[in-house]
Formats: sequence, C-alpha cells, structure tokens
Amino acid sequence: MSLDGKIVITCACTGAETSKELQPALPITPEELAVTAKECRAAGAAILHLHVRDEHGKATQSVKRFKEAIEAIRKVSDIVIELTTGGAVGDTAEERLKPVIELEPEMASLDCGTVNFGDEYIVNDLPTMRAFATEFKKRKVRATLECFDLGHVYASHYLIKEGLLAEPYHYGFVLNVPAAAPYTVENLSAFIRALPAGADYTVMGIGRSSLPAQFGAIANGGWIRVGFEDNVYFSKGVLAKSNAQFVERAVRIAHEAGLKPATPDDVRQYLKLRG
Ligand code: ZN
Repeated sequence: MSLDGKIVITCACTGAETSKELQPALPITPEELAVTAKECRAAGAAILHLHVRDEHGKATQSVKRFKEAIEAIRKVSDIVIELTTGGAVGDTAEERLKPVIELEPEMASLDCGTVNFGDEYIVNDLPTMRAFATEFKKRKVRATLECFDLGHVYASHYLIKEGLLAEPYHYGFVLNVPAAAPYTVENLSAFIRALPAGADYTVMGIGRSSLPAQFGAIANGGWIRVGFEDNVYFSKGVLAKSNAQFVERAVRIAHEAGLKPATPDDVRQYLKLRG
C-alpha cells in the first residue's frame, strides 16, 4: 500500500483549550461532533483528532464522554478517530490513558516529552511515555507520536529501541505552542531529519502558523492537520465558520500541489490500523 499522490488530512476539531466564547462554532456535544465529523469527512479529512468536554464545556478524559462521542460519530461517518491522550493541563497520566485502555481506538496521540504550554506545562517523562507505549502496543492502537520540541523526536527513538512501538511510525509535529518550538522552515527540517527511517508525519501549526505549516508539510512530503484545536481564525481577524472550512482550504492547497486527499480506508491500510 502506498499513498502516492495522496495526502492525509487530520481535523483536530475541538481540543482542550479552545472555548465557545473564542469560537462559537466549536463542536462540544456528541451531536455537534458528529456533524463536524461528517462535514470534515465530506470535505476530505481522513482522521478526526478527538477531545471531549464535560457539561460545562471543560476538557475531560471521561471514558463515558468519549464513548458517547464515538458512537454519535460512527453513526454518520467512517472517518478514522484518533483519541487524545494529551488531555488538558493538570490531568494525571492515568486519566489521560484511561480512554485508550477502555475504548481501544484505532489511533491515539502519544506525547513524546514534557512541554511548556505558555505559563503551564504538561509532563511526559520517559517512564510515562513507556507506560503509554506499552498499553498502545498491547491493544494495537496506532500512536501519533506528538513532538513539540526537537528533543521529543529523539526521545521517541528510546521507545523504538526498547521495542515499545510497532511500525509504521506516524509522528505529529506540534509547532508554535507558546514557549515551545515555533514553526519555521528550519525547525520543521530539523524535526524531519531526526525521524527514524520510513516514518510519516503530520505537521500542526498552532495559531497563525497553521497555514504556513500546511505549505511546509506539502513541500516536504508530510501530512496536514487543521481545526479549531490549533487555530480559530480563517484569516487575520476573521473567525473560521467551521472546521470543514479549514479542511476545504487544505484540500484546495493540496490539489494545487497535485495531491488528492487520502480516504479513511487508505489510512487504515497504509498505517495498518486495527479497523
Ligand atoms: Zn489534541
């Protein structure tokens, strides 16, 4: 299976930090998430990166909430669902991992290092990463190895050497988080050079770097992530109308580069997902 001529587009539709006040179209309820999944899939997204919220709109790692969201999405879309294990600032490692253990998704994110989030930080020391990777492998959950700083890519090599990750390797470069590595062409190149052989990667530019990061991904043969988790503005000062509007633009850009969006089933085959 090759993805020649195709690009994988992920939509991170909700995230943990974005609020309805900031972006009124933010999907939070299972019904809203299902509508978003359907629209983004129709627009060309193959993967939905999923966070859920409680009844007050606050980020939660509640298994019940994830289950409700997944069931609602599955009724209307075949999109690949990637659960977050990054959670929100302040969540314990056990809380973050629980949805993967109980729901066994096709894909989930696996943070590869401790990182600043502005004035706050998320802890991912090597023992935590090992514990996560072990549970992923046991359940055949494909990891998106999220790297916020260059050292995180190198930290992932420890997991590979220790036999805790199964191929094919898929990375997510999260660039421009406040007080972590900004998106620049040079930084993206450094991250790519640090990858193990044959790995694929999705580039996620936070805030105003979202669009430049999409061009950077395409120029280097990487994949794209868009959505309200990363950015709420479609252009300077103009809020996006929906997550799908971002996906539509990503597809247009890719099209100009001679690329077609991969389907969820393309991704299932290529990344050897459990399905
Ligand atoms: Zn996320």
